[in-house]
Amino acid sequence: AGKVEFRDVRFAYEPNRQILKGISFEVPAGRTVAIVGPSGAGKSTISRLLFRFYDVQSGAILIDGQDVRDVTQQSLRAAIGMVPQDTVLFNDTIAYNIRYGRIDASDEEVRRAAELAQIGSFIESLPEGYDTMVGERGLKLSGGEKQRVAIARTILKAPPILILDEATSALDSHTEQEIQSALDLVSRDRTTIVIAHRLSTVISADEIIVLKEGRIEERGTHAALLRMG
Ligand code: ADP
Ligand code: ADP
Repeated sequence: AGKVEFRDVRFAYEPNRQILKGISFEVPAGRTVAIVGPSGAGKSTISRLLFRFYDVQSGAILIDGQDVRDVTQQSLRAAIGMVPQDTVLFNDTIAYNIRYGRIDASDEEVRRAAELAQIGSFIESLPEGYDTMVGERGLKLSGGEKQRVAIARTILKAPPILILDEATSALDSHTEQEIQSALDLVSRDRTTIVIAHRLSTVISADEIIVLKEGRIEERGTHAALLRMG
């Protein structure tokens, strides 16, 4: 399960300024599609529409053949996991932050998810900004570590569909590799839409869609797109 379809989707945030100008694509269940394109092209808008933060003005978005307008917010949130580029943490332990979204998870499940995301060593810590009455200070997490908290949360939630918003900020190459392997792990066997900022990071996506000014400009495998230049 988890097939995602965009059918001739048109969308404008404000009248007379179309952001998506007729977008059609399909992500078969379990496959990965990467969406690349310059800033402002409409990439994030695609993920907002899938979550139904906004509704399309024409066309349709379907999950397993069902129009998202006919799905409850609750089941949409259960079906779709998101690893954002900037993870904002709740003012509570890392373990709490991982469990958010699946509060029934056992401590053992939380620990395993944290270990897979390689943050097992500090799940009892509190993030920076948390100052208790007794003056205890929170732990300062790097951008990469925060993203791994979001990855651990997603491992635990195990949604059929995953949206990965690639970090735009420069991560050092070691961190980038660690995050990449954690992402490969969560996206395996899951329908995945990667919002990518660099073509080089999505080599193994089944299809890459190049979005420009609200239209699909090119599509194909990484190798095919490189041949086209
Ligand atoms: P990308 O993710 O490719 O950088 P976005 O989908 O974020 O692009 O944005 C596409 C266009 O929509 C941009 O021109 C942006 O300014 C505009 N936009 C995004 N969000 C809003 C909003 N809430 N209201 C009005 N315009 C918006
Ligand atoms: P497949 O389903 O084809 O095996 P994957 O789901 O493993 O493909 O992911 C496709 C590619 O996209 C992989 O190379 C993966 O590392 C990459 N990728 C996934 N998420 C991100 C991300 N947030 N930023 C950059 N690359 C990513």
